[in-house]
Amino acid sequence: MTTDTSAAAERAFYYPNKIGRIILLATEEVMGRNGVNAVLNLAKLRHLVNNYPPNNFDRQFRFEDVSGIQHALEEMYGPRGARGLALRAGRACFKYGIKEFGPVLGISDLAFRLLPIGMKMKVGIEVLAEMFNKFTDQVVRLGEEEECFIWMIERCPVCWQRHASEPCCYLAVGVLQESAYWVSGGKNFAIEETTCIAKGDAACTILISKRPLD
Ligand SMILES: [Zn+2]
Repeated sequence: MTTDTSAAAERAFYYPNKIGRIILLATEEVMGRNGVNAVLNLAKLRHLVNNYPPNNFDRQFRFEDVSGIQHALEEMYGPRGARGLALRAGRACFKYGIKEFGPVLGISDLAFRLLPIGMKMKVGIEVLAEMFNKFTDQVVRLGEEEECFIWMIERCPVCWQRHASEPCCYLAVGVLQESAYWVSGGKNFAIEETTCIAKGDAACTILISKRPLD
């Protein structure tokens, strides 16, 4: 037996089909079926055109497909346009995701809804991180400072094998925006990606302000 580092580097990582499906449904909600098909064609993912993954937990949706879709968005709409679309798609992902995972994770419970808002934010973020760590190959580590929660993605599908001069994981930022909005009962928070693997950092770091904007 030999240890081949190039083989190790090529090891594939996956989201479950269920999440791949959610990303495509959410992207479709933002840009229409034709828009999604154009993106999938550009990303060389023709097998997904009108053929979304099944709604199950099998880990078969490749990280490079997630990042390939983000990259194609940027090629089609430029960085600014792609940023807006990816943020909106991320927000829509959460709405689809909460229907699928809410009951599994227990955050639709009355007990959760009755928590004070600060605790709800903390628990909500922990539960979301646990969902990714348990059901996907994405690796999330959490931290906390006085002013913000720290969402650190150590293995990130959104920028997988991408190279960028600025943080580019807007899909993930959108998911966290909508999570915070949902958990807080309709408040908005400053949420910003400060480091990104695509620009050479060790992890993708997203800061979630504890204080709402409004
Ligand atoms: Zn990333």
